[in-house]
Amino acid sequence: MKRQNIRKLLLIISMLLFPVTIYYLSPYLIIRAAFEHIANGSFIVFCGMFVLSIPFGRLFCGYLCPAGGLQECAYAVNNKVCSKKLDILKYIIWGLWFTAVVLCYVINGGVISVDPFYMTEHGISISEIGGYIIYYGIICLVLIPCVIGGKRTFCRRFCWMAPFMITGSKIRRKAHLPGLHIGAKEGCIGCGKCNKVCPMGIDVKNAATSGSIDSAECILCGACADGCPKNILKYEMRYHHDGKKA
Ligand code: SF4
Ligand code: SF4
Repeated sequence: MKRQNIRKLLLIISMLLFPVTIYYLSPYLIIRAAFEHIANGSFIVFCGMFVLSIPFGRLFCGYLCPAGGLQECAYAVNNKVCSKKLDILKYIIWGLWFTAVVLCYVINGGVISVDPFYMTEHGISISEIGGYIIYYGIICLVLIPCVIGGKRTFCRRFCWMAPFMITGSKIRRKAHLPGLHIGAKEGCIGCGKCNKVCPMGIDVKNAATSGSIDSAECILCGACADGCPKNILKYEMRYHHDGKKA
């Protein structure tokens, strides 16, 4: 099976499991848990996302995110690339929310216990009919921006998880640690096919001349690598500061 087919299959599986996993990605339950001194499922997942993004960047967005699967389904309705203008919104949303989370834990006395299955029923998030009101609310929150704005608009403008991974990637660069990138060899013919397939609207053609794609918005989906007729774009672990492979 081709890499993009495997990637899409993983996203579809993740999307189908969303009623089970939604509380582990919830920006609200982490605040509610803070009032009970509990580190809940989303607390653990967000910490894990941040730590794993140091070596793997936003690989989660490209291969495993249920909201990513939903957004790729919306390509059938709006296949345009989302404008970059409002990318900053997600940092504002994340900054306000993250500050609230930290304050809630600090004011309420920190973490006393850990409960990965907080507010779930045998580990399943949506186990009652009422939970589907929240579930479909989140589905609309993800889908409507993509229908209006184009490919991965939710990732670009609203996602409360993306800044964790972007921060992890930035720390890796500052610390000169190796991380997963799309690297580019010499031999680009400037056909622009990579730009056409990139769902995040990154100027891959231009970035390829510098040896690697180094955008905070790159979700490491590999569509550019799979679309390049000269096969010059490849996944690789490399150091940021000198382009040296790990
Ligand atoms: S630059 Fe390549 S890997 Fe990154 S988001 Fe665009 S198509 Fe995917
Ligand atoms: S698809 Fe490959 S050859 Fe074409 S512009 Fe992009 S990097 Fe260059």
